[in-house]
Amino acid sequence: MDWIAPYLLGWSFAFALITAAELLLPRGPERIGNRLAGLGFWALWLPVSALVHAGYQHLWHWLGVAPLVVLPLDFTWTGIAAVVLAPLAGALVYDFFFYWCHRAQHRWLWRYHAVHHAIRDLNAVNAYHHISEPLLQAVLILLPTSLIVSDTGQSAAAMVVLLHLHASYIHSPVRFGFGPVGRLFVDNRYHRIHHSLEERHFDRNFAAFTPLWDWLFGTIWFPRRGEWPAVGLAEADQPRDLREWLTLPWRPRAPQEEPAAPLRPQDRAAAASG
Ligand SMILES: [Zn+2]
Ligand SMILES: [Zn+2]
Repeated sequence: MDWIAPYLLGWSFAFALITAAELLLPRGPERIGNRLAGLGFWALWLPVSALVHAGYQHLWHWLGVAPLVVLPLDFTWTGIAAVVLAPLAGALVYDFFFYWCHRAQHRWLWRYHAVHHAIRDLNAVNAYHHISEPLLQAVLILLPTSLIVSDTGQSAAAMVVLLHLHASYIHSPVRFGFGPVGRLFVDNRYHRIHHSLEERHFDRNFAAFTPLWDWLFGTIWFPRRGEWPAVGLAEADQPRDLREWLTLPWRPRAPQEEPAAPLRPQDRAAAASG
């Protein structure tokens, strides 16, 4: 449990650093206020997810179930393997389950996931989800990942902070892409495509860590030079308060007479069924 404080500190550091970068290298007008809703979400969710993660580790220990691979973060491997490769392998496994959970969210659980896609002021902090989604992720992502990989220490703290930085950076509008390295690791331009209002981008780029899974399973769209689409949903505005955030999945989302952008197939089906 002594890793929970560093975990929360790591996330706070990542949010602060990327927010500073967003203000220094903005793509458009920046408003500090549009981060407040996101801050509330993370203040609630990060401690809960840390406890869920710890809970799984205790449960497997209590049941005598050993994870398939125990990542040797305590330097039973030496040098670069322990510090760099083990956390990367953990992130790769996590991202595999994230990819398939994310596809399920688009296919069967869209009304809840649409809350994340409704956000128009997308940035590192303001990338919240509906309250039901992290609970789903705790079952579909954290649970299987905890059975396959388990870290045994925090000697790779710097690497873990880097992974937190990366996870918050992919929603950031900061004017900084990965260039050719973006073929290996998801950058903010790549994930922007996933949130795009343009029909050709719908249901592309589900992975959050490496484009490998999108490439393997046929859902990849590498952004072209300068491709930075507007984001949000054509028929639902982003939630403006706590009540809208909680109830958006059940609000009728009738398209306007002239939608500003094409509807996603999931929303077209919902509109047709009333
Ligand atoms: Zn999505
Ligand atoms: Zn996203």
